Amino acid sequence: MPLIVQKFGGTSVADSQKILAAARKAVRAHQEGNQVVMVVSAMGHNTDLLVELAAQITDQPPAREMDMLLSTGEQVSVALMAMAIHSLGYEAISLTGAQIGIKTDSTHTKARIQSISTQRMRIALDEGKIVIAAGFQGIDEDFNITTLGRGGSDTTAVALAAVLEADACEIYTDVDGVYTTDPRLLPEARHIGGVSYDEMLELASLGAGVMHNRSIEFAKKFSVPIHVRTSFSDVPGTMITPLPEAPDQPVGGAALAKDEARVTILGVPDKPGTSLAIFSKVAAKAISVDMIVQNVGADGIADISFTVLKDDLRTTLKAAELAAQELGAEGVGHDDDVAKVSVVGLGMAKQTGVARRMFRALADAGVNILMITTSEIKISVLVDRSQAVAALRAVHQGFDLDKRPSGARAPERISGKPARVSDAVAVVSRLQKMEELTIDDISLDDTQARLTISGVADQPGIAAAVFDAVADGGIFVDMIVQSFGRQGKAKLSFTVPQAQYKQCLDLLNGLVDRLHCGPISGSPKVAKLSVSGIGLRSHTEVAIRTFRCLSEAGINVDMISTSEVRVNISVDGQHGQKALDCLQRAFADARQ
Ligand code: ASP
Ligand code: MG
Repeated sequence: MPLIVQKFGGTSVADSQKILAAARKAVRAHQEGNQVVMVVSAMGHNTDLLVELAAQITDQPPAREMDMLLSTGEQVSVALMAMAIHSLGYEAISLTGAQIGIKTDSTHTKARIQSISTQRMRIALDEGKIVIAAGFQGIDEDFNITTLGRGGSDTTAVALAAVLEADACEIYTDVDGVYTTDPRLLPEARHIGGVSYDEMLELASLGAGVMHNRSIEFAKKFSVPIHVRTSFSDVPGTMITPLPEAPDQPVGGAALAKDEARVTILGVPDKPGTSLAIFSKVAAKAISVDMIVQNVGADGIADISFTVLKDDLRTTLKAAELAAQELGAEGVGHDDDVAKVSVVGLGMAKQTGVARRMFRALADAGVNILMITTSEIKISVLVDRSQAVAALRAVHQGFDLDKRPSGARAPERISGKPARVSDAVAVVSRLQKMEELTIDDISLDDTQARLTISGVADQPGIAAAVFDAVADGGIFVDMIVQSFGRQGKAKLSFTVPQAQYKQCLDLLNGLVDRLHCGPISGSPKVAKLSVSGIGLRSHTEVAIRTFRCLSEAGINVDMISTSEVRVNISVDGQHGQKALDCLQRAFADARQ
C-alpha cells in the first residue's frame, strides 16, 4: 500500500477549524488507499509564545529546559489532531518524538537525528491507523527531550518519509509553494513549479523561508520527492526533486537573509592554520557560520570575514577575540546591520555574464556591496540592511525573475518519483547515522588564474564596472571573492582561465585609474579545490576539516568562499595536487 507523509505547519493548525481541515486532508488520503503519517507543528505562534515566556523568567534559560518547554507545543497539536481524526470516524494515534523512537544527539535546541525506529509506526499503520507524529522533537541517550532547531518539523517529516520509504512527502503550509523570491518582500515574485534539491538548499539557507534547510539535505540524501503546497486549497504547489537544469535560465530564484552579522578578524598573519584556529573556536560554540570570505593577503597579512546570524553575534565575538589574540591579529571588527542577498540557479555554472548582470543591477539601484562570495550555482552579496529590499528587488528584476521564462521546465520532469536507493543494505547503512556528512565530490581545477584589485572604494558601481568590462572582453569568470578591508577599502579577487589571464590583466590595468582603485596583482596559475556534498553548513566541520588538512600539509589558503553545498578554496598553483591528495584522505570516511 502506498505510504504518504503529510506535514502541517503552525499556520495550518492554528485553530480548531484548521486542525479539522487538516484532519480531513489526511482522511481523504487514507480513503484513497494510502497509509498516512502526519507530522504536526505547534499551533500558530505557540513556539514563539513559549520562547517569550522563558525570556520573561530569565535571559539565559538552560537549553535542556528550553527543549522540555518547546516540545510541549507539538504535544498539544498532535493530541488535538488525533481527536479530530477520531471525530471524523477514523482511527489515529498521536506519538511524541520519544514514543516513535527518534534518537538524537544531546545538542539541546539544535539536536541532530541519529536514528529513527519504524516499528511502532508500522504496527499502527498496519492496523489501519493514521499516525500523528510530533514534529521538531526527539530524545537523547539519557531520555532527555531534545528539539531540532526552529522550523524543525520539516526535518521530522522528511526524515520519517526517508525511513519509511514513503511514496510522497507533502509539506502543507500557508503559501502555495516556492517562489522566485519571498512574496511577502516582493509582490512581483513568481510561483515556480519545480526546483532542484541543490537550488532549494541554497535558497532555504539564504532566507527563502519556505523550508528548514536540514530537511532538504535529508530529502537530497535519501531522494525523497517533496511537494510543498498550501493547506487552504487543492492547487498544486512546488515539487522539489533532482531536477535537471533549466536550459535558458541562469538564475531561478533570489533570496534575502536579513538578520546577518559580519565579523572580521583584521590583520591575521597570512600563513597556514589561521582559518583553522578561528573556525574551530567558533564551531566549539555550536554556531553555524554562513559566508566565509578570505582574500589573498598582502605583506604577509590577511583579513578574514564571515557572517553568522545576528542572534549569535555576541557568542561569536567572544570566540573570535580569543582566536585573534592567539594568532596575534590586529583585532576584531563587526557589523550587525547587514543582510545577504543571493541569486541561485543551476544554469549559472555554464554561462558567462551572470556576475555582470547581478552587479550591474545592484549598481543601478545605488546599492553598495560589502562582500561577495560565489559558488557554482550561487552569487551572494552582503549589503547594508537598510538597502536589503531594494537590493533584492534590483536583482530579481535584473534576472527577469518577475517574467515567465520562455522555455519553462517541462512538467513531466518535475512530477513522479525519482529513482530511490533500492538496495536495502544501502538504505540501512545510510540511516544509521542520519545526519552524517556525505561528500559527493572533491575536485581540483588547476586551469585557472587569479586577479586581485586592492583598494576598492566603499561605494556602489565598482564590481559592476569591473565585470562589465570583463564580460565585454569575453572572459569567463569563475570564483569571485570580495572581502571586507581596513579603512573602508575592500579587495576584489576572481579567477579566470589561465589562457585569459594576460588579457584580463591588461584590461584591468586600463580600468583602475578610472575607478580610482588599485593596485592590481594576480597569479597566472592557481589551484581551485572544491569539496561538495550534503550537510556542509550544518557541519561547520567540513570547513574545519578542510582547513586542518591544508594546515597540516603546510599549504596556505589564498581565497575561501563557501555555500550550502560547497566549500571552495584557492591555493598556490604548485600545491594543487598535494592539496587534492590531502583532502581526499581527510574526507575518505565521508565519501558516498
Ligand atoms: N514549532 C517549531 C517552530 O516553530 C517547529 C516547527 O514549526 O517546525 O519552530
Ligand atoms: Mg514553523
